[in-house]
This record gives sequence, C-alpha cells and structure tokens, in this order.
Amino acid sequence: MLEAQNIVKSYNNIQVLRGISLQVSQGEFISIVGASGAGKSTLLHILSTIDKPDSGIISYHSENVVTYSAKKLAEFRNKHIGFVFQFHNLFPEFSALENICIPAYIGNAPQKQTEAKAMELLEILKLTHRAHHKPGQLSGGEQQRVAVARALINNPKIVYADEPSGNLDAANAEDLHRLFFDLRKQMGQTFIVVTHSDTFANMADKKYVIKEGIIA
Ligand code: ADP
Repeated sequence: MLEAQNIVKSYNNIQVLRGISLQVSQGEFISIVGASGAGKSTLLHILSTIDKPDSGIISYHSENVVTYSAKKLAEFRNKHIGFVFQFHNLFPEFSALENICIPAYIGNAPQKQTEAKAMELLEILKLTHRAHHKPGQLSGGEQQRVAVARALINNPKIVYADEPSGNLDAANAEDLHRLFFDLRKQMGQTFIVVTHSDTFANMADKKYVIKEGIIA
C-alpha cells in the first residue's frame, strides 16, 4: 500500500535522510528504531506527508503523493492517515468525546454518526466512563488512549505513531503497546511506529533500524 523510494532530506545542508526505500503492505505493523538524531521522526513526517522530501517518491497505492498540492495533501491526510504523538496534543477545553470527533468534523462528517463512532472507539479503549471528561481530568495513559481513538475516527488506512509511549510509565506503556496490536487485529489497520522501546519494536512484523540517515 505504501512505497518510499530513495528518500533524501537535508536540513541546513546536513543530509538527515540519505536515500531511504521501503515498502509497507496493508495490515503490516512496522517499527522504526535508532539512536536519537538518526532521522526517525523526519522519516515518519515524510512518509505521513506532513513534510516533503528533497527528492524521492512516496506512493500510496501506486500514486505519488509528493506532487500533491498542500490542499490535496491535507484532504488525503485527513481521510487516510491517523497520527499519535508522544505528547497527545489534545485540546484541553474539549471533552474526550469532542477531541476524538474533531478530525471527522474537519472532513465534514455528520455529528450524530461521528459521535456514535467515537463512543464505539471509547468502548474498545475502555474509556466510556471518561467520554465527557476533559484531558486535564484524565491520567496520562487515558489521555494517550483518547489520542489513539482520535487517530482512528476517520477509519484511516494507516496509523503513524511517534514515541506514543515515550511519556508513559512502564505499566501504561505496556498497555498501550498491547492496544496497538489489538487494534490491528480488530480493524486491520497498518501501523508505522517510531519507538525507543525494544520490546514494542520487536513485537512488530518488521523492524527498521535507522542509522545516520539510512536503513541499517
Ligand atoms: P530522531 O527522530 O531519530 O531523533 P530527527 O528526525 O528528529 O531524529 O532528527 C534528525 C536530525 O535532523 C537531527 O540532527 C535534527 O536536529 C535535524 N532536524 C530535524 N528536524 C529539523 C528541522 N525542522 N530543522 C532543522 N533540523 C532538523
């Protein structure tokens, strides 16, 4: 479903990615590991179309998205891609339910249907009792599960996560790791996850080690 060909990216004349190629199939679970500064987040941002490469091709189902306009890319991301970050980036003034619904509203989805879907996700994530709580009233693990539900609300084909458990204690991190694999099983989503956790990385179908801007 996703193919990257010879991705190159520099910042300030320093080549951060030096020709990365990879292929990801539908439903695959990919982990990306490597030392700090190796280029993992840069690669994730480029694969997920948040950032553009200097050269190279990113194709989803054989369509090169690098050439898309900003508007077309924003629509593509909203429809097909879910994101989970290290810091959940939930809006503090909105409830868990409202936060989860936001990406659907951006895509003009109807409110009733979206809320029903969000409640389903909250149930899967064992958070039904927290639907109307604001992020400040939730634990770190609960906040991150709300962020996972938000990533899934538009039924994305692929979910990207950048250090999703980096800010959680060991027990919550382990729960979150298990949750990702449960979701893959239940929903068949493709996951690409940057992590410092060896245990999590080794649970993946494929592990890519990034070293000095290339796949080691
Ligand atoms: P990792 O995720 O493996 O820790 P990153 O992809 O975040 O590594 O960063 C790789 C290198 O690229 C680092 O040296 C970082 O300082 C640099 N870099 C990343 N993003 C930017 C940016 N927006 N501007 C300048 N340099 C950047």
